[in-house]
Amino acid sequence: MAGADCLFCGIVDGSIPSQTIDSDEHTVAFMDINPATPGHALVVPRGHSADLLEISAEDLTATTLAAQRLSRRMKDVLGADGINLINACGATAWQTVFHFHIHVVPRYQDDPLKLPWVPEAGDPDEIAAIAARLRGENG
Ligand code: AMP
Ligand code: ZN
Repeated sequence: MAGADCLFCGIVDGSIPSQTIDSDEHTVAFMDINPATPGHALVVPRGHSADLLEISAEDLTATTLAAQRLSRRMKDVLGADGINLINACGATAWQTVFHFHIHVVPRYQDDPLKLPWVPEAGDPDEIAAIAARLRGENG
């Protein structure tokens, strides 16, 4: 899905309204309409890619650098105490808009966000076995 069918392509080309806050040759940043915290914004590449697995290295680099630029601005202008960069890749991983985007979520000491998992020690054998698979080892 791209062009006329894609919400964020519409924001990039201006046919869908947004509160744009930054842009450059490769990227556009705009406010999220359902903010997790005050200042929550999205950075997207101008070119359409569905997700992290599809995006080109050039667009990924540009979008990540734009997210860093915006993070610094949130710290300076909004007084953010921290920042979360979040990317959802795939519906199972909570992606709802299939044009690659990085959430830039300013964090404040008293904000209500919680880590979405409970850190618990894993089984070392299972961790090692998965690591071996990811290294491409047999067995
Ligand atoms: P995700 O669920 O990670 O794919 O993120 C999609 C994000 O887009 C959500 O946080 C939505 O709130 C946001 N969103 C949806 N429609 C718009 C819109 N028209 N303008 C700005 N943000 C939007
Ligand atoms: Zn798009």
